[in-house]
Amino acid sequence: MKNFTISLSKNPTIVMNVIPGHFTTSHFHLTHYLDLDNLKTNSSIARDVAAELALPYLSTTPIDTIVCMEGTEVIGAYMAEELLLEGTSAINSGGEIHVVTPMNNVNRQLTFQSNIQKLIDGKNIVVLVSSVSSGKTVESALECLSYYNGKVVGISALFNAFPDESEQEIHSLFTSEDIPEYKMLSPDECDMCKSGRKLDAIVMHGGYTRI
Ligand SMILES: [Zn+2]
Repeated sequence: MKNFTISLSKNPTIVMNVIPGHFTTSHFHLTHYLDLDNLKTNSSIARDVAAELALPYLSTTPIDTIVCMEGTEVIGAYMAEELLLEGTSAINSGGEIHVVTPMNNVNRQLTFQSNIQKLIDGKNIVVLVSSVSSGKTVESALECLSYYNGKVVGISALFNAFPDESEQEIHSLFTSEDIPEYKMLSPDECDMCKSGRKLDAIVMHGGYTRI
């Protein structure tokens, strides 16, 4: 099975690299690894990605703060720039948008330091994540933001594995429907394990390690 790419029909410069294989996260086995690094780190591509992700909010949603998870800070900064552009229907133009990232404390909970909390407390917040699979990243972000009294007005992602099952609406560029035969299963239900296929790699912290 060879690697392949999927481009966004609206803007074909936005390309997701897909690596088929037998991957494991801490909870699930996956049939494909999605390489989203170029979307997050290539500044001109990240700018295009940000323009797409800003669209659902542009004319409707006042935003004070973008909270970036999983290495999405470059996209977050361009997204803020896009939302602040002058335009007759641009609701945030002329305003201020802050772009922040939570920290992990020793108990692996997400926290904001005291000096950053004022950018969360009572503010309209968009949560930006790289990929939504088990939903744990989004869940922990929402928990953290609720603790600091942030008002979440939107969630955006590069990839959403379960577009139909997400509890909250998630604005994503790509979904599992774009990848033929994409599967995410618990290890005891995994067809590849049943057929005796060894794991190729462990997926964690936004990357993978071959084993
Ligand atoms: Zn498996």
